[in-house]
Amino acid sequence: DGDDHKDPRTPVPLVKRSYADSKWSDTTPYASKKKIQSWVQLPDGNWELGTVIQTTGNNSVITLPEGKVLQVSSETLIPANPDILDGVDDLMQLSYLNEPSVLYNLQYRYDRDLIYTKAGPVLVAVNPFKKVLLYGNDYIEAYKRKSLDNPHVYAITDTSMREMIRDEVNQSIIISGESGAGKTETAKIAMQYLAALGGGSGIEYEILKTNPILEAFGNAKTLRNDNSSRFGKLIEIHFSETGKISGAKIQTFLLEKSRVVQCSEGERSYHIFYQLCAGASPSLREKLNLKNADEFKYLRQSNCFTISGVDDAEQFRIVLDALDIVHVSKEDQDSVFAMLAAVLWLGDVSFTSIDSENHVEPVIDEGLTTVATLIGCKVEELKLALSTRKMRVGRRNDTIVQKLTLAQAMDTRDALAKSIYSCLFDWLVEQINKSLAVGKRRTGRSISILDIYGFESFERNSFEQFCINYANERLQQHFNRHLFKLEQEEYIQDGIDWAKVEFEDNQDCLNLFEKKPLGLQSLLDEESTFPNGTDLSFANKLKQHLSANPCFQGEREKAFRVRHYAGEVTYDTTGFLEKNRDLLHLDSIELLSSCTCPLPQVFASSMLNQSEKPVVGALHKSGGADSQKLSVTTKFKSQLFQLMQRLESTTPHFIRCIKPNNFQSPGSYDQGLILQQLRCCGVLEVVRISRSGFPTRMSHQKFARRYGFLLLDHVASQDPLSVSVAILHQFNILPEMYQVGYTKLFFRTGQIGVLEDTRNRTL
Ligand code: ADP
Ligand code: MG
Repeated sequence: DGDDHKDPRTPVPLVKRSYADSKWSDTTPYASKKKIQSWVQLPDGNWELGTVIQTTGNNSVITLPEGKVLQVSSETLIPANPDILDGVDDLMQLSYLNEPSVLYNLQYRYDRDLIYTKAGPVLVAVNPFKKVLLYGNDYIEAYKRKSLDNPHVYAITDTSMREMIRDEVNQSIIISGESGAGKTETAKIAMQYLAALGGGSGIEYEILKTNPILEAFGNAKTLRNDNSSRFGKLIEIHFSETGKISGAKIQTFLLEKSRVVQCSEGERSYHIFYQLCAGASPSLREKLNLKNADEFKYLRQSNCFTISGVDDAEQFRIVLDALDIVHVSKEDQDSVFAMLAAVLWLGDVSFTSIDSENHVEPVIDEGLTTVATLIGCKVEELKLALSTRKMRVGRRNDTIVQKLTLAQAMDTRDALAKSIYSCLFDWLVEQINKSLAVGKRRTGRSISILDIYGFESFERNSFEQFCINYANERLQQHFNRHLFKLEQEEYIQDGIDWAKVEFEDNQDCLNLFEKKPLGLQSLLDEESTFPNGTDLSFANKLKQHLSANPCFQGEREKAFRVRHYAGEVTYDTTGFLEKNRDLLHLDSIELLSSCTCPLPQVFASSMLNQSEKPVVGALHKSGGADSQKLSVTTKFKSQLFQLMQRLESTTPHFIRCIKPNNFQSPGSYDQGLILQQLRCCGVLEVVRISRSGFPTRMSHQKFARRYGFLLLDHVASQDPLSVSVAILHQFNILPEMYQVGYTKLFFRTGQIGVLEDTRNRTL
């Protein structure tokens, strides 16, 4: 491939350095004759490379690059790798595998815009926060032709494509990382590659166009990320026998709907609201009675309307275009915008006191009348639904009408707005799925890409973080299972000589969440159904029942703390019960189902279908609410279990996205922040196990069948094991490079290459 390198557009791969020393160790005694480079930790916590100039007893004298000389205890020094290993593209190649060396290696590459690095089987991606020249058709071509093979999302996607075809097994690409680490961008890059490789039918354009739509409706500016996904997403891309994309299916998880009605300073609600306000044509503006974004109460509260570098009006045109491409009709698009405007105008509905008992009713003003027009109901009906609640009482289920207080009325209004928005989101995903549907004829195989919210830990953590972090515990377990547990179990089962590598097991934390009847989720569900349950009584129950669990700690008042694999998080239970119940009162559902516009009716019936039992007549005695509805926690958990089940049947490929700083700024590499992310996802352990492990394995039979014909000498016994051993000897495979198990042979990375090459030459 010498020609490729003459083309200036074709990237030149980093030269691969071989690492000769297969016997590595993390703690090597210092020989005093030679100058030795070593890592010293400075008082600010950062690591600096120094040269050991003298070692006496337990002390070492070190010079630092700026000429500073330090005397430190030798024990605190950590060996650095020789210069020749600077910037290796797989951490497995490091002679000394320790935290500062890994940090340095990633930084060395990051400084050169080499944002991808392998950590054994895992791809590590450090967010560049700027355009890097690593993408596009030339690169796709180069990875496809394998003229480039340095670590890249394209490379891992290519591998999954090949393995899908070769092994006839579905694949998954699991992308994880904190908010703002680059998961969504990475998922799009992987989709780009699949579309390029499997394209042809045209469906790939539709698949790519789902991104701007879902981002408009499901992403928002947060303090951590200007384009933060507020939902989890799995996209399953299906391929025909010939490797062409035949369709796709999107599943979404737990959209953060509270954002629609409540949003903190400096953040925004969902992009689509601002896009609509900025980009709607004059006729659409008039039809929806639109105002500017900063004139709607729901959007005004956070005092943030624009994102630097983003033109909302332009984005709106992109979304319109994408909606056309995924076959959402103009008529449906109009209905979608009407629902968005209805949500915005709902926020402007205000209430006025009507009696001395604090009961209120909505003011009949532009807000109320516009909402009524947009959803297609009478103003009076809307007014009633926002100010009263029908309840059934007594044994005869008599209906009485209760008037609402200001707080209750505002909650009812906000609940309606949130429900309309989340139903709209689900409905859109459903329309997209119809357009992408895999034909009836079930075709070959699929590659799923999972982009799910990463672990979150804020000053104040609420129900949303509780769910998100639970999901991350589940995913972490999947990661552990595949990279540590299953791998090692196989070694042990097959009886090979293997010293177990310890890893952080998160089963205790999962138990804390899932155990019945005394786990966080069960207790939350139980308290949510109690008529007198409050956030405080919930918090107290947790303290009463869970204090023995090492991952749990009660905190002052309504708070509790969980020790997650990624760190400790303190949750404030304020709002937990309400968010978990997620009630929309029957009055609101009835209102929607009586509307003349099509979408509200669809939403009402989907809400009724979500309940286990019909809602009508199943009202809770005290609250008048539908108590049969599944709680949010329960629904989320079951979604997650289905997801895990689906992932279990695939060959996983893991990408760990790393956020190098908290300012979304290019070039800044915060060692402490990065180390914390590397630690919590077990990157070092993965490398350690891969390096000491035996990733290539083959049964005795298969090995003997595959290479037996290469034998030069006659083997006395024809049993597969004897033949296998004879082959190993003939090819001089070193004893430390393989292990013979009861049923299989296990090889270290790269060992089987010689055999394959000879076989290919001979055949
Ligand atoms: P996450 O989904 O993990 O929260 P995103 O994928 O939204 O994070 O990334 C956050 C921001 O980081 C993006 O909006 C983009 O500006 C930047 N970014 C992420 N990955 C890349 C990349 N590969 N190249 C350039 N910029 C990136
Ligand atoms: Mg995202």
